[in-house]
Amino acid sequence: MVSREHERILQDTEREQGNTALRNNVKAALALADAVRSTLGPLGLDKMLISDVGEVQVTNDGVTVLEAAKVEHPTARMLISTSTTQDVEAHDGTTSAIVLTAELLLNALDWIDRGIHPSVLVSGYRMALEYALDVIESISRSASDEDLIQVVKTSLSGKVGEETRSSLSLLAMEAAKVALERSNREIIDPNDIKRITIRGGRISDSERIDGIVMRKTRLDSQTPDKLNSGKILILDGGLDPKELSIDASIRITEPGMLARFIERQKQELQDRVQAIADVGTDLLIVRDGVNDDAISMLREVGIVTYRRVERDDLELISRACGASIVRDTRGINSESLGTFESLKEESWESIDHVRIHGSVGSGQTVIIRGSTDSILEENQRAFDDAIGVACGLVQDSSILPGGGAIQIALARRLRDYSTSIPGREQLAVEAYAAAMESIPRALAQNAGLDGLDRILEITAAQASNDNDWLGLDVTDRQIHDMSERGVIEPLRTTRQALIGATESAISVLRIGDILWAKQDPQTPDWQSELGQDED
Ligand code: ADP
Ligand code: MG
Repeated sequence: MVSREHERILQDTEREQGNTALRNNVKAALALADAVRSTLGPLGLDKMLISDVGEVQVTNDGVTVLEAAKVEHPTARMLISTSTTQDVEAHDGTTSAIVLTAELLLNALDWIDRGIHPSVLVSGYRMALEYALDVIESISRSASDEDLIQVVKTSLSGKVGEETRSSLSLLAMEAAKVALERSNREIIDPNDIKRITIRGGRISDSERIDGIVMRKTRLDSQTPDKLNSGKILILDGGLDPKELSIDASIRITEPGMLARFIERQKQELQDRVQAIADVGTDLLIVRDGVNDDAISMLREVGIVTYRRVERDDLELISRACGASIVRDTRGINSESLGTFESLKEESWESIDHVRIHGSVGSGQTVIIRGSTDSILEENQRAFDDAIGVACGLVQDSSILPGGGAIQIALARRLRDYSTSIPGREQLAVEAYAAAMESIPRALAQNAGLDGLDRILEITAAQASNDNDWLGLDVTDRQIHDMSERGVIEPLRTTRQALIGATESAISVLRIGDILWAKQDPQTPDWQSELGQDED
């Protein structure tokens, strides 16, 4: 029989567990956020990461910092996945998403400590998110051509130097526009734009060209290095005699059998090459190997061949030429072929490259230049981000102010909105509004300014000028209309950061919620425990 006293102790323990579980979860989030907060903005610090084996990497990219932290905590891992989603969806805003998540949790915990049930915070946060998404939509405007370049430049701030930022932003925007013109789909995949790096020259020598370029030489130097239009076959396999499977063996029972076996294999290979020639192939692109016998057979039928072509390239070429990718030479017909307009081999910085123009989409390649391998790598990473942002922009050119302006505007609007909510969710919406200010605060602090003072200044400036675009430009540490300073961001980046951070915070709050399930949501619970906690 359990006494009343026992029952009380049991209940308290349950409550305590809930509280501790949530606290520990939030702590994990905060520890991570601290690590990335100081990297936010163009003046954010770089982090030096040192791996287990002593490799050093310097970065100010939120995701890179998080991934390198190799954290095991489930909440921390969830945060990492939030930032990864942000990276995939918007190609930017990963640091902001983490900082926002942590602040949402911190503010929630404050109210929980004062007796508000987590489920109230969860529903209030949902209301706030819905409202915030409407607000950013209404503050956004459509970007001019000039703005577009500037948006891409903003996304690269703090990552590479000014000259590189300009060159890469121009290139990315140009490539994204071409991709849009040529695409019959609504969604443009940044991966449709081929990138290659060439060591030598300056970043400003980088260029976008039509056609798909690969660092490759044709298989047989006796075949021509230039072709004017023709038919192309893409083979996702190789041209080798079929290898014997591991457990197969041939039993030689009479003289000459091995020779006949080899002869038959050769004949089979000959048949496959003949089939390729018969459908009218001029250019053959092969995923795997092509053996010596096949090389001479292909030469005889006058087919130019490239082997060991990567799968990504196969797909790009297939789309540019309207060719299917065939797995086997059996059953191929003229329908399997695509057409190319030209093929040409060129030597750049004494490395052979081949350039194929497709007849359907032609394809395009961006050639990134840089003087050393490490600069090239940095430029390529920056371009990967730039092209992601640029492709997003040509699909939706809505933009918002950066420099903390949009978050201050959100905080102002959300506070107004909260007063219209009669229930306890009002407190959650207020907490959400306050969390928005973590972005301008971090931007100001990383520029050596006082976070609180700047928040108050921007808030007052926005309200008295009725201008949501006023924010902090950290380059001169003054408040400006962000569109005049070119500190502008895609709507999509901010939208995704809000959604990601809110979902992420909510799922942490719900982990605690499961443990609280037995309590009445409306009773202030561990109010009496206030002050007894370790902080
Ligand atoms: P994230 O991973 O979130 O993109 P960044 O380190 O790239 O983090 O910083 C992005 C933030 O920096 C955005 O809020 C953006 O508006 C802001 N930002 C960029 N340039 C400036 C600037 N010149 N002045 C103030 N804020 C800026
Ligand atoms: Mg960024």
